[in-house]
Amino acid sequence: MSGKFKNMETKLIHAGEPDPPIQGAVSMPIFQSSTYEYSGETSHKDLKYVRLNNTPNHRALHQKLASLENAEQALVASSGMAAISTTLLSVLSQGDHLLIQDCIYGGTYRFVTEDFPSMGISFDFIRGDNPEEWEQKLKPETKAIYVESMTNPLLQVADHPAVVKFARSHNLISLVDNTFTSPINFRPPDMGYDLSLHSCTKYLNGHSDVVAGAVLGRKNLIEKINHKLIRLGGALDPHACFLLHRGLKTLAVRVGYQNRSALQLAQYLEKHPAVSRVNYPGLESHSGYPRARELFDGPSGMLSFELRKGLDAAKAFLEKSELPILAPSLGGIETLVTRPATTSHYYMNPKERVKLGIKDDLIRVSVGLESTDELIEDFGKALP
Ligand SMILES: *Cc1c(COP(=O)(O)O)cnc(C)c1O
Repeated sequence: MSGKFKNMETKLIHAGEPDPPIQGAVSMPIFQSSTYEYSGETSHKDLKYVRLNNTPNHRALHQKLASLENAEQALVASSGMAAISTTLLSVLSQGDHLLIQDCIYGGTYRFVTEDFPSMGISFDFIRGDNPEEWEQKLKPETKAIYVESMTNPLLQVADHPAVVKFARSHNLISLVDNTFTSPINFRPPDMGYDLSLHSCTKYLNGHSDVVAGAVLGRKNLIEKINHKLIRLGGALDPHACFLLHRGLKTLAVRVGYQNRSALQLAQYLEKHPAVSRVNYPGLESHSGYPRARELFDGPSGMLSFELRKGLDAAKAFLEKSELPILAPSLGGIETLVTRPATTSHYYMNPKERVKLGIKDDLIRVSVGLESTDELIEDFGKALP
């Protein structure tokens, strides 16, 4: 990867772009071809074919993504879950043990709890900020430690420097799902993580019109994951590569705005008499505030809140508010709201869910690119 471009904004536009441009095209064209003519390749893996993740669209995207987090290499996959499952299956095999954060994305949680047992892979759930507990749960067969940059929907921030240090001192592979923070706010390989995972469906593409995933990190690991992805068949199609590539170019502008807008909305909600609690790492009242300040370049576009009047008031808010769209997913240009108890955390035992702090009336917000003033006005009208 060329280190030609210094800053994030410049890398987003220029890193990985064909030089010279293909036929002079300023925008990377879509190579809508599944296969490519032989041109003297000697090894099977050098043939160009979409499932081998090596077409011109894949190559440009891989270089651009790697440069964003200063990773040695990157690989895209057909969804965030394709990237996560393929990565876990590449670093773990029968007999291995994984330490994994307790409040992780539902799809990852289910993959680990429902599919690992039949493959002979064991795991223990850990808190993101308790190295003593990690030490206690460590086994001779422990291979890796897996956390998320910020948890959904409470936005708790794991002790990332401790995770990296713990992994190094016990010879484990360290993995972090960086979807919620995006490379604009956090670049895990820079601080020593071996692998950084993304659902590119969220901030990286950013327009709620593509499903894609990526894994960034150490060259030897990415190569191993690529071979597994080729066998499992989770390649990203060229048209989706093109859309993700296009979406990426505005990432810094989008996330920068979302950081500022979400902070203003969180400050407004925190002062509102109808709101009993706001979870946002940009607020001093939040437990993740000191760590987010130290590790992240921005507080993110995600927040969640509870209302004093409970569930009925939450339901009324979701009905009365006009700008936010009631829908799962996040990181797009439109503000989305959900009630995690009925969506992302529906699969959980209600008692355990409440114990984790995710009450029935908790509302999660993914702040979009609408006018901040209008968004705050709309929230104000819908609050009791
Ligand atoms: C959405 C999401 C995923 C899964 O991504 P898909 O693209 O839907 O497969 C993984 N991790 C996090 C944190 C997510 O928000």
